Amino acid sequence: MERGINTRCLHLLDEERTEHFGSLSYPIYQTATYAHPGVGKSTGYDYSRLQNPTREHLERIVAGLEYGTEAFALSTGMAAITLLFELFKPGDHIISEADLYGGSIRLFDNISKKNGYSFTYVDCARTDLEKEIRPETKAIYIETPTNPMMNVSDIGKISEICKNHGLLLIVDNTFLSPYFQNPLLLGADVVIHSGTKFLGGHNDTLAGFIVTKDPAISEKLRFLIKTTGAGLAPFDSWLLIRGIKTLGIRMEKAQKNALLLADWLKKEKIVKKVYYPGLPEHPGYGIMKKQSRGFGSMITFDVDTKEHALKILEDVRIIKYAESLGGTETLITYPTTQTHADVPEEVRLKNGITPCTLRLSTGIEDIEDLIGELEKVFAGLDE
Ligand SMILES: *Cc1c(COP(=O)(O)O)cnc(C)c1O
Repeated sequence: MERGINTRCLHLLDEERTEHFGSLSYPIYQTATYAHPGVGKSTGYDYSRLQNPTREHLERIVAGLEYGTEAFALSTGMAAITLLFELFKPGDHIISEADLYGGSIRLFDNISKKNGYSFTYVDCARTDLEKEIRPETKAIYIETPTNPMMNVSDIGKISEICKNHGLLLIVDNTFLSPYFQNPLLLGADVVIHSGTKFLGGHNDTLAGFIVTKDPAISEKLRFLIKTTGAGLAPFDSWLLIRGIKTLGIRMEKAQKNALLLADWLKKEKIVKKVYYPGLPEHPGYGIMKKQSRGFGSMITFDVDTKEHALKILEDVRIIKYAESLGGTETLITYPTTQTHADVPEEVRLKNGITPCTLRLSTGIEDIEDLIGELEKVFAGLDE
């Protein structure tokens, strides 16, 4: 019988009890290189850019959580996406979700295009993707829910289109983590994570992952990671291993807080719109029910004026005005000048990101303190 996800966050199936003196905390192999027992002999390890036992332990855990055959741990989420895009060649065309993490758009527009790739950005939740496919199209790249507008697309449906046209389906699964969603089981070919977010979970380190179940892709990625050198460092790998131990209880608590907060925000006079897929009126609610085990803890909302949005950012105390998401602490972000500052203004506005838009990542604090703080901040807005 398959072990439950919380057990899999703690234990590997092939764990050998006698190794490492029985240490429950996986050792940090803080080494650059490995001594060979003799000429032509090897411990299986040569150099840490290519192999490191601590990183490999983490990679096996993440591969297991996402039902992949292999995972690759990179120094950041952006390093993971950058490495993955080395799979393409000049002339290749990629259909991408329009409402993506701003850093991904910055990468595609500034680096990938320079490398000769072209992109079509579409609202994947509401577009007939088949019509966008060209002879040189190689992949569809999505997030669901999207960052920050929380649009939900049907991974299974898009994977059908990809299979019919020989395209790679890449899903950035950062917002839900493998605890709530497994794109590979729904037909995706590659899963991306910013491990900085829910997997690490403590706002204390950066990391990124690529997970796949396709041996041909794995082989290419292994060569690329060895060649380009953005593998995750041993100590950061250990922090991720430790973070993942509590993935389940953090995700559950943060989601519980998000559901309560989204409901509360809806009733506030200055709040004009709440984008949270766990609200039954959200257009993606039905798809989420079908393809995910939860709704996550990201809430985007619009307030009535830009001045109010800025004052909220000034006045919060327990809630931190900071970029990032998915950690133990609740963060509030201003997409216009933070995460999505490099996305052209007209694209931002078209996607629905306005100067009145705020994004919340609920943490695991007591909900009374989060709502209590926002109540106070909202009440003081026009003083
Ligand atoms: C943060 C984030 C990234 C980038 O990850 P880093 O670890 O910050 O490099 C990519 N995708 C999504 C959805 C993110 O939220």
